[in-house]
Amino acid sequence: MKGYADWMAQLIESLIKLPGIGRRSAERIVFHLLKTNREEVYRFSQILKEVKDNVFFCEICHNFADNKVCHICSDPGRDRGVICVVEDPKDVIAIEKTGSYVGLYHVLLGVLSPLEGVGPGEIQVADLVKRVKEGKIREVIFATNPNTEGETTALYLAKILRPFDLKMTRIARGIPVGSHIEYTDQATLSRALEDRVAT
Ligand SMILES: [Zn+2]
Repeated sequence: MKGYADWMAQLIESLIKLPGIGRRSAERIVFHLLKTNREEVYRFSQILKEVKDNVFFCEICHNFADNKVCHICSDPGRDRGVICVVEDPKDVIAIEKTGSYVGLYHVLLGVLSPLEGVGPGEIQVADLVKRVKEGKIREVIFATNPNTEGETTALYLAKILRPFDLKMTRIARGIPVGSHIEYTDQATLSRALEDRVAT
């Protein structure tokens, strides 16, 4: 890269690979880091390493976790009778921000998409069935995104969970069709959860 010391050029190329970072932003970040004191930059690089080495998927709900079980699954204050099913850990963060949900989650880590060859075996369906089979669950809320794949996934899950004695609900339609849970504002998401409908 013209005009840059080699290490700077390498860092810019690495930053450009991150989502939402263009060349100009990457250049700005590199100049910023060079001006920042050494301790702070070392700490930043250490955190990057720790995140990669020490963040796992929760073995119960498949959300991100610092330990085998995430902070939500291990919180005794949560309602253990309700599971909210979402596609992605980012959806857990969006729903947690509303502050209006106190149950547990199940993160599918994907969504059914026959066109892209994603079937039930590729996402965390079996573990959801296992959790329901163990009993104690009164309600499962489907909070997959309001698009074709999200609806297909919710319908599929409702079908396979039908034999169990539990209430199944879908978050309400306040969320515009085709949009994503993670980009929905907190008030709308809160209302969609509150106004969930039986499925
Ligand atoms: Zn968990």
